[in-house]
Amino acid sequence: MSYTYEKVATPSSGLRLHLNENTAGCSPRVLAALRGLTAEQAAFYPDYTAVSGACAARLQVDPGEVLLTNGLDEGILAAAISALRDRTLTDPQAVVVTPAFDMYAACADAAGARVVEIPMDRDFAFPIEGVLRALGPLTRIVFLTTPHNPTGLEIGRDAVLQIAAAAPQALIFVDEAYADFADETLVGSPDARQFGNIVIGRTYAKAYGLAALRIGALVGAADTLDRIRRVLPPYSLNVCACVALCAALEDTAHYAWYLDQVRISKALLYDAFDRLGVRYWHSAANFVFADFGRDSRCVVDGLAAREVFVRDRSGDPLCSGCVRITAGVVEHTRTCISALQEVLCGAGS
Ligand SMILES: *Cc1c(COP(=O)(O)O)cnc(C)c1O
Repeated sequence: MSYTYEKVATPSSGLRLHLNENTAGCSPRVLAALRGLTAEQAAFYPDYTAVSGACAARLQVDPGEVLLTNGLDEGILAAAISALRDRTLTDPQAVVVTPAFDMYAACADAAGARVVEIPMDRDFAFPIEGVLRALGPLTRIVFLTTPHNPTGLEIGRDAVLQIAAAAPQALIFVDEAYADFADETLVGSPDARQFGNIVIGRTYAKAYGLAALRIGALVGAADTLDRIRRVLPPYSLNVCACVALCAALEDTAHYAWYLDQVRISKALLYDAFDRLGVRYWHSAANFVFADFGRDSRCVVDGLAAREVFVRDRSGDPLCSGCVRITAGVVEHTRTCISALQEVLCGAGS
């Protein structure tokens, strides 16, 4: 079995509602900061003190509890390598709950692990029993996502802590890429701090709109992060990402405005789905997962014909008929809903 990250084709125009990006773009202050870069800043190796400090302050943790990475993707890869590099193990294992973000299995496989996939329970309920049963002495990393991609559902904190307690030999990687949109986070939680094996992943790609600048963060105990830092190049973040993140963190108004757009967009999508008789899941993230059943192919194609791009996940385990739609700028959501109405009203014929 081979695992790869499937890059989807990039449409040259139209509405990109297929990758959960920030559809409003980054704060204008980010562009101003990039324009203000000096020749020396470009010429000298970057120093991460200021940006790490700003990031830790925002997350309300110590600077030593934050490790910035070149996108959360690099954090996932580094965590996998660090957890799986033990040469004394002949068959290290990585546990992944499916459907899942492709990077977990791709990185665990690249790092030489056997990938153990645990399917979600009915209706995408978190399979706590299945995960606990899968844990063993060879388990070296467990990937959890909350809010989950592609469902938008949260994993209860108790489940995460139970897993961390049951597998002290493993790194418990809690991917919180969408936590900005949710009410809950494990960052700073005294419960999570009791477990040195929990590492939380965050990204500035989604809520802050910095996907192309590539910046994410791992949050956890300082000594756990030191072990991960050892497998990273010393300058994996470039200076553009650093100045961009500092500027983005300062623009709290832009951030709050965007979270509000997402909240309204989700409500509009729920409303539309209720009217159209489409099943969906209430999402704690910036997208909504919906089950169009046999119409899914024609919905995805019909929307694409109207230049609205959404993500067909119907090929994923348990996801037959399911489509993921980014909920960003309200105006974009309205355009998507109009197109959806056109497509679905013609679907049965
Ligand atoms: C988008 C996403 C990431 C990747 O974040 P980058 O910072 O862009 O690398 C990681 N995990 C999940 C679940 C995501 O959806």
